[in-house]
Amino acid sequence: MQGDADMRPGTGPIGLDFDNTIICYDSVLANLGIEYGFLPSGFTEAKIAVRNAVRALEDGERKWQRLQAAAYGQQIDRATPFPGFWDFLALCHERAMPLVVISHKTRYAAADPGGVDLRQAALGWMRHQGLFDNGRSPLTEDQVHFADSRTEKVGMVRRLGCRCFVDDLEEVFNDPDYPRDVPAVLFTGGAPAPAGPWRGVGHWREVADAVIGR
Ligand SMILES: [Mg+2]
Repeated sequence: MQGDADMRPGTGPIGLDFDNTIICYDSVLANLGIEYGFLPSGFTEAKIAVRNAVRALEDGERKWQRLQAAAYGQQIDRATPFPGFWDFLALCHERAMPLVVISHKTRYAAADPGGVDLRQAALGWMRHQGLFDNGRSPLTEDQVHFADSRTEKVGMVRRLGCRCFVDDLEEVFNDPDYPRDVPAVLFTGGAPAPAGPWRGVGHWREVADAVIGR
């Protein structure tokens, strides 16, 4: 880890992505894949391995879309926050650090048009997990924002004055409209971070070190 001097934290909120940054779909995707008969029983690997295995099946892309639609919608309550996320929230609560969540998420899945409202499902998950329980979390529902496109998302990062932004997708930070003066934190969930104009972190403990310090 580098020191955190280069993060040049401002005074705005810490910005967080939602899917695959706060919420981990690994086990729900693997378990649904087994239930749908797409994966062998006992399959416990992470999202990328599930995706690769399901896409390799006949009509694999459609099967993968169906799996994702279920995990992000109807079955979202089987997903869990990434390890260490609650410790990060508790630290933000203790330090009175403001947070915003900015998620690029369409209202409905392409594989399930007119089905479950994915934004309401995400808000419901946050509520059920206690993320809006202000006795232990600084997050409020009106600090959760949804964007229809990546361009709109990076525009929100700028407009909301984020002091830094945490996201699992390199594309967000490589977007030509991403505000270069907002330090980027690429969350990998434990995988090695590729090189780029960001700080790579594998665990929420490292996010806390990078954006708050000790
Ligand atoms: Mg994401």
